Amino acid sequence: MEYQDQAINCSDCGQEFNFTAGEQQFYAERGFEHPPKRCKPCREVRKQQQGARPREGAPQVAASPPR
Ligand SMILES: [Zn+2]
Repeated sequence: MEYQDQAINCSDCGQEFNFTAGEQQFYAERGFEHPPKRCKPCREVRKQQQGARPREGAPQVAASPPR
């Protein structure tokens, strides 16, 4: 299977970025079905924001209930 670079518009900053063939292969290997919506800088920003988010008494509720 051959991948080709795709141009995607970042949903955060609106810039067009390349979803490269290598990244597509990486995503496919990881089982990700959807291409990224954001360019790398925006993804990094979001990652850092999530990682640095302070827990101000937020309830520790699981996102999905156990089955
Ligand atoms: Zn962006």
